Amino acid sequence: MEKSQALFQEAVKYMPGGVNSPVRAFGNIGITPKFIERAEGAYLYDVEGGKYLDFICSWGPMILGHNQKDVLDSVVKACQNGLSFGAATEREVVMAKLITQMVPAVEMVRMVNSGTEAVMSAIRVARGYTKRKKIVKFAGCYHGHSDSMLISAGSGVMSSGVPDSAGVTEGCTKDTVSAVYNDLSGVKELFASMGEEIAAVIVEPVGANMGVVLPKKGFLEGLRELCTQYGSLLIFDEVITGFRLAAGGASEYFHITPDLLTFGKIIGAGMPVGAYGGRRDIMEMVAPAGPVYQAGTLSGNPVAMAAGITQLTILKEHPDIYVKLNQMGDDFYGSLKKMVQQAGAPCQVNHIGSLGCLFFTRNPVTDYESAKTSDTDKYADYFKYMLGHGVNLAPAQFEAMFLSAAHKKEELDRVLELVHKYLENKRFITS
Ligand SMILES: *Cc1c(COP(=O)(O)O)cnc(C)c1O
Repeated sequence: MEKSQALFQEAVKYMPGGVNSPVRAFGNIGITPKFIERAEGAYLYDVEGGKYLDFICSWGPMILGHNQKDVLDSVVKACQNGLSFGAATEREVVMAKLITQMVPAVEMVRMVNSGTEAVMSAIRVARGYTKRKKIVKFAGCYHGHSDSMLISAGSGVMSSGVPDSAGVTEGCTKDTVSAVYNDLSGVKELFASMGEEIAAVIVEPVGANMGVVLPKKGFLEGLRELCTQYGSLLIFDEVITGFRLAAGGASEYFHITPDLLTFGKIIGAGMPVGAYGGRRDIMEMVAPAGPVYQAGTLSGNPVAMAAGITQLTILKEHPDIYVKLNQMGDDFYGSLKKMVQQAGAPCQVNHIGSLGCLFFTRNPVTDYESAKTSDTDKYADYFKYMLGHGVNLAPAQFEAMFLSAAHKKEELDRVLELVHKYLENKRFITS
């Protein structure tokens, strides 16, 4: 038996589903997950010595590639001074200043320990500031697993969220309203009927948790206008897009200024870090400056801050990284798109910058409903083929592919050849 298989058999005895986060269990794929031992640059290495070109990048954080030397050095050095003090440190000031310099929409920021925590806190602040209750969220957007964000997607506009997980009460979700991504007129109707009750609209400026779904022209601008008109706050959940589409994230990329922003993933360079921030008058609501309570024993942890500061500083000082990364994304996903189109394969490619997704559906994917027309069995088959040939993709259709600065053109060309071979094998391409 493979070592990964043996480990998984042990794992399921002691951990629910054998993992600490559901998607890692390969639930839809029907094989045991690979156990990873180490990572370097664009590659993961499993406990059997297998090597995989990695398109997950820890779900985004490793934008400079795995085990980047400067990040690693800064972490090792920080560790030598102690792992946590539970007191103010200089690094927190450096980090906060750095974030406000890179993301102009952020005037003040609070560090937390995960994206989930960042969103949960930003929502509390939005409600505290506006003294309103309702939060509008879009079906297919993921904002972490706090109770009020775990509502079932439904179709069309729903005025009251239905819990999407056991253990979440209706009381927790009744003030969350579900809307359809890219459907601005639906959101307009919603505002017309309950605009005065809406504390905030939260959105992934690029949907990256239903595969990759791009905002239609005018969608984000329209949300900005509606929120301003009704005195509601616009929250960009930039846990994936932050520091990825550009140094200033999606707010810079799309030239839109949200009132609050949430971060995670890249901001911690692989350490458990999140942050929320935005307009000064709103952030001054947060304790101890204001009446909205939010705290954290390990928030702003010195080792985690060291990792984040190093990664963000590299990104800030080398804007060419984004030029190259976005160009590489355009080339790679563009070629993939051309290939499936020429083959007449039942596939769609959505991409922006270094984010992309191959959907197994003939329908253009613009929202959660269209994303769900994808054939997940076909995706599972494709995933297994690619894994078997040393390429690590997300083990689920509704996830993004991530490129890092460590990916090289030759490697991506090899992947394109592999995909071509796969489509041929499946007779999507006849040569
Ligand atoms: C990953 C993610 C989160 C949750 O972050 P965690 O660190 O996993 O809690 C929230 N929002 C978006 C957009 C994400 O992609």
